[in-house]
Amino acid sequence: MSHPRNDFPLSLYQTKVKGLSRKFDLMSPAERHEYFEAKVGLEIKALKEYFKKNSFIAYWLGKKNSGKGTYSKLMMEIFGADKINHISIGDLVRRLSSDLDSPQKKAALLEYFAEHYRGYISIDDAVQAFLNRDTASLLPNEFILTLVKREIDLSPKKIIFLDGFPRTLDQISYALYFRNLIDYRKDQDIFIAIDIPENVLDERMKYRVVCPICQTPRSLKLLATPEVGYDEKTKAFYLKCDNPGCQGTRMVSKEGDSLGIESIRKRLELDDVLIKKVFSLHGVPKILLRNAIPVAASQELIDDYEATPAYSYRRLANGKIETIESPYIVQDDDGVDSYSLMAPAVVIPLIKQLYSILIKK
Ligand SMILES: [Zn+2]
Repeated sequence: MSHPRNDFPLSLYQTKVKGLSRKFDLMSPAERHEYFEAKVGLEIKALKEYFKKNSFIAYWLGKKNSGKGTYSKLMMEIFGADKINHISIGDLVRRLSSDLDSPQKKAALLEYFAEHYRGYISIDDAVQAFLNRDTASLLPNEFILTLVKREIDLSPKKIIFLDGFPRTLDQISYALYFRNLIDYRKDQDIFIAIDIPENVLDERMKYRVVCPICQTPRSLKLLATPEVGYDEKTKAFYLKCDNPGCQGTRMVSKEGDSLGIESIRKRLELDDVLIKKVFSLHGVPKILLRNAIPVAASQELIDDYEATPAYSYRRLANGKIETIESPYIVQDDDGVDSYSLMAPAVVIPLIKQLYSILIKK
């Protein structure tokens, strides 16, 4: 199977608009709004009109940390949080654990399942197996589907972004008929895959830090905060949370992250197979997003500020710390020098592809 990337022309990822020389600060929500208006305003307007009467269901296909949640959030920002429901199977399963601890919630869950679940093993057996080990892999596909259906029933008629399903090859066939199961019969279903270099995932993982108070994620190398500190003991720089409530709390890395993606190698390979398999399907529209584009083609395709910069730090004589911003060039999986795009610049081709699938058929 060839890589899906080969079926999508590079020109699809052009975000540069002729005659638009203004720079936008993509970290500012207000400027992001103007950015999207300037670059895909017409498509957004048409889609908003379409979403007044229609919705769709999208399946995210992407490796861990490829940005699925971030892109869903940006879509909510553009089209309204009341219009979109991002459902993460991981979150659902975590919530299932705590719901089963509460007699009231457990009763409500079992009542829903008694009405809607169809499967080879009994609800009680599935719940018991799950309680013993607490992992999603022990839940039968039919059980997970019913769990998702219940979540959708709680807020019907929204656009749905599903994250974490299909997760295995045998779940792909379930996904094909899922919209019938959830009574979204007339809605379009779409697979959206994210093509992202492993080097980017690796660096995202290695340099990731979070605020211990508000849990905001940042990156020492790829997404700095305005205030930076220096630890004399470890001779290392660290970020200070810029959330006003956190008063400059030192952001910390998670245990295990320093190992990078080698710790999840098997999962990455399965995700590759999954994406290729889905892209060989007929009859279902597919969208491919690219996190990175070749440096050689960048002049024509993107504006400078849409590429992710890399940050490094230096201590000045007066004790202050200077943040140095430089271009971040990363080799993609084929060894091609590439720029990794800021999230809003990945959402532009998402909106364009949605527009051609849903409106300009
Ligand atoms: Zn914080």
